[in-house]
Formats: sequence, C-alpha cells, structure tokens
Amino acid sequence: MTRTCTLLLRLLLTGVAAMATTHAAQPAVAIIIDDIGYRYAEGKRAVALPGPVACAVIPNTPHGAAMAQVAHARGKEILLHLPMQPLDPERPVGDEGIALDTTRAGVTNALLQGIDSVPHVSGVNNHMGSLITRHPGHMTWLMHDLRDRRLFFIDSVTTEQSVALAMAREQGVAATRRDVFLDYEQATEAQVTARLEQLLAVAEQQGQAVGIGHPYPATMAVLERELPRLERRGVRLVPVSEIIALRDKAPALADGNTDTLN
Ligand SMILES: [Zn+2]
Repeated sequence: MTRTCTLLLRLLLTGVAAMATTHAAQPAVAIIIDDIGYRYAEGKRAVALPGPVACAVIPNTPHGAAMAQVAHARGKEILLHLPMQPLDPERPVGDEGIALDTTRAGVTNALLQGIDSVPHVSGVNNHMGSLITRHPGHMTWLMHDLRDRRLFFIDSVTTEQSVALAMAREQGVAATRRDVFLDYEQATEAQVTARLEQLLAVAEQQGQAVGIGHPYPATMAVLERELPRLERRGVRLVPVSEIIALRDKAPALADGNTDTLN
C-alpha cells in the first residue's frame, strides 16, 4: 500500500515536473492586431502576417468583412473589435458599440450587428472602453451575451480599473487580458521592437503573454521581420484562444512550481 502510494506520488511528480519544464522552456505568445477594417494597405499586411496572429475587426467598416474572410482562410482567429465608450468625449461609439446610455437590449443589438458585419468571429475584444469597462452592469450584460454565443473575451485593458475580465469570469466566459501594447500611433520601428521584446520577456516570465498591436506601417514592418524568428528563440506563436486555455490550466501548476523552476 505504502509502496503503491510512493510510486503513484513519484509518477505524479515526474509528470508535473515534465509539464513544468515544457512550460518553462517553451513560452507561448499570442498577438492580436486591432482596428482592422479602415486602412486597406496595412490591413492587407496584417492579415498576411506569418502564423496565427489574431485579427480584431471593427464592425461596419469598409474593408472589415473582406479582411476577416482572408484572415480566416489563412487560419487566423477573428475577433469582433467592439467599440466601447472611452473617457474622451470626442470619441463617441454610436449604436455599434456600448456606452453609458446603452440599454440591455442595445448591448445585445450591438453585439449581433457586429457579428453580422464580421464573418467567422470566435471572440470579442474592446476597442477603446476606458470609461465603460469600469461599469459592472454593462460588462455583465455583454458577458451574458458572449456566454450564450460561446464567444471568448480578451480585455484590451484600456484602463487598469477595467472590471470586464472579472465579469467575464463571473459569467463563465472564456477570457483573458492583454499584457503588452506593441505600439502607439507615432511609434517608430525601434520602439515597436522594444515593446515586442517586452512581450517576450513577460512570456518567458509567466509562461505565456498576449500582445496587441495596430495596423501601423512600423508595427507591420517589425512583425513581418520578427515573427519568423520567434521559433528559433524558443517561443511559440499561438492563437489567442490557446492562451486562455493555457492560463486556465496553468495557475496552480505555475504557482506551485515557481521556486523549483528558478
Ligand atoms: Zn481599437
């Protein structure tokens, strides 16, 4: 009996150690390109990026539907990039998004219209949202609708006070959050490269990381150059839904093995 227990324990520990080693040796990174649908040339570059880079498409945009088709055909995940009210009053979201005055039915309507205008959507992330993602009521309504339609959610984290991820968890929606923004509108290639390094460092530290970039020329140039090199650096580029799955499995394992790994 005791011997059996010891043997079982040893087998279990070996298994955990093997998993932990794989986990430590092969950090996983997911990248999402936001704001697809307006800029044609850069959008085309975004959907042509090597590997399973996710494309987050703004609803009802001139090129959104066509780009989602192309990206999906190339094996990329499509996110609905749902407009949400920011703190800046100069940037209204209209009926296509979620604002303070959006009703319960309005939230569902925005989501359904969005899914209707963007094919192959498997998840949602927020476009802007520094105001409304702090509101538990609206976020609960949204997450309820996402759960009904089995869509996952990525919190872009446009404010550290966002409760979107917490509400997603409460409603049982598969979800995670962005770790690093890869760019901003005027970022140079050197700055984007530095942010990408930061993303890789987070992945090495945590085992996995989610980065968000935009279809800016500098960002596209850096990703076209650097993504093919990730494998040689021992980093796996994975679909963003895989990060959700990894994080769902990882916490106890990662926490429990932090000391022994280092
Ligand atoms: Zn956006």
